[in-house]
Amino acid sequence: MFESDLDKDRERDISVNLRRRAFLTSAAAAIGGLALWQWRKPRLLEVNATALPEPKDVTIVLFSDSGERLKKVTMAKVIKTSDEWRKQLSPNAYDITRNADTEVAFSGKYWNLHDKGLYRCICCDNVLFDSATKFDSGTGWPSFWQPIAAENVTEIRDTTFGMVRTAVTCTECEAHLGHVFDDGPEPTYLRYCMNSASLRFVKQT
Ligand SMILES: [Zn+2]
Repeated sequence: MFESDLDKDRERDISVNLRRRAFLTSAAAAIGGLALWQWRKPRLLEVNATALPEPKDVTIVLFSDSGERLKKVTMAKVIKTSDEWRKQLSPNAYDITRNADTEVAFSGKYWNLHDKGLYRCICCDNVLFDSATKFDSGTGWPSFWQPIAAENVTEIRDTTFGMVRTAVTCTECEAHLGHVFDDGPEPTYLRYCMNSASLRFVKQT
């Protein structure tokens, strides 16, 4: 074999290698594109199906576990998918906080609790009520005459079940907490009728 033939062979090898490399690169791009498409599609569908709320800043008041008012803060609202909430919560707490269900009266763990402490949101830990405002309503649900800070709860007109009521949600994460009625005791005459399952009690010593 002459030297020129060797050169031609070498050139052909280089050319084949380049073509192969180009093919592999485009194949990888195609596979990558497919993976991206497959990853994006269900995500978009999920967003539509669960109708996640718009990202939004909310203002709440922070408290220490001992009940000391710390400061007012503006923060991003806590937004999670249904699956994320399901993983975090018990089935009962999920149904009540994320689907506005109501626990059976006298079934929850806090309706008859008289200990001193704070009630935080089961979903996001936002402080909602102080035991100092808890009273025996006789309803079988934990009842308070005011939230610990007006900013920390949000009241919404609720017309489900053929009634006009005011639903109470957590400002930080939109967890459904219960309803507020105007038949409470002094000094506010309000009755915040809450679900135990929406709350996490933090005892003060
Ligand atoms: Zn919350």
